[in-house]
Amino acid sequence: MQKQQLLYKGKAKSVYETDDNDFLILHFRDDTSAFNGERVEQLARKGQVNNRFNAFIMQKLADAGVETHFEKQLSENEVLVKRLEMIPVECVVRNYAAGSLVRRLGLEEGQALSPSTFELFYKDDALGDPMVNESLSISLGWATKEQLEEMQRLTYKVNDVLTAVFDQGGLMLVDFKLEFGVYHGRIVLGDEFSPDGCRIWDKETKKKLDKDRFRQSLGDVIEAYEEVAQRIGVPLD
Ligand code: ADP
Ligand code: UDP
Repeated sequence: MQKQQLLYKGKAKSVYETDDNDFLILHFRDDTSAFNGERVEQLARKGQVNNRFNAFIMQKLADAGVETHFEKQLSENEVLVKRLEMIPVECVVRNYAAGSLVRRLGLEEGQALSPSTFELFYKDDALGDPMVNESLSISLGWATKEQLEEMQRLTYKVNDVLTAVFDQGGLMLVDFKLEFGVYHGRIVLGDEFSPDGCRIWDKETKKKLDKDRFRQSLGDVIEAYEEVAQRIGVPLD
């Protein structure tokens, strides 16, 4: 597969075309951003840690029957993926209250949510990724009712699979964000699953081991990502 021109440079990854219209190459950079791109820093090793982390998780999900865009890790920072027509809606499942939910409703961080909640956000940095709902997503033509139902079903399935994976490492999966797209008519999981897009806490100490370390300037960001990787069995070297 030949890497061709840059199609899109996102906040954390660069997307390249290939000589096959059905596939893209994602390059995980060390750039780390927060607050919809307002704050950006380079964190050494982040690109390669997230690339390996994502490959491991995507494999676990595929094994559990979730179709993903992941094809093959090509290098330390690059992965070959199916080219999806992305749906501009982020799917978030929360097992415990944190982040924007705490701010919105004044909840106590860590409050258990039972059953787990499902939320949709419109992917638009300029608007600050506003919360939307299924009805609006259909009316605005972002997705059909059937596609949204499938995205919700798959996001809950991912939650079941990954809650168990993190639990075995003594970790709590607090919440996470997924992005889906359409591939030959099917809803397929795209983008990445890494500590950049989820919240993971130590079960005993509740220590934050995800991107909140960057958002809240807690330090040792990549060290925390590496600790999570090691605790769930991601091969890092
Ligand atoms: P952002 O766009 O939020 O800054 P990234 O830096 O992670 O995010 O950029 C990666 C971009 O590639 C995102 O816009 C994401 O929606 C898109 N993307 C991820 N996987 C695929 C795929 N398989 N096919 C097409 N686009 C994808
Ligand atoms: N998230 C993400 N990208 C976004 C928004 C949220 O990966 O653009 C993730 C975030 O890391 C967390 C979950 O989605 O794991 C829920 O995020 P929340 O709504 O609490 O927003 P935040 O306060 O993190 O901006």
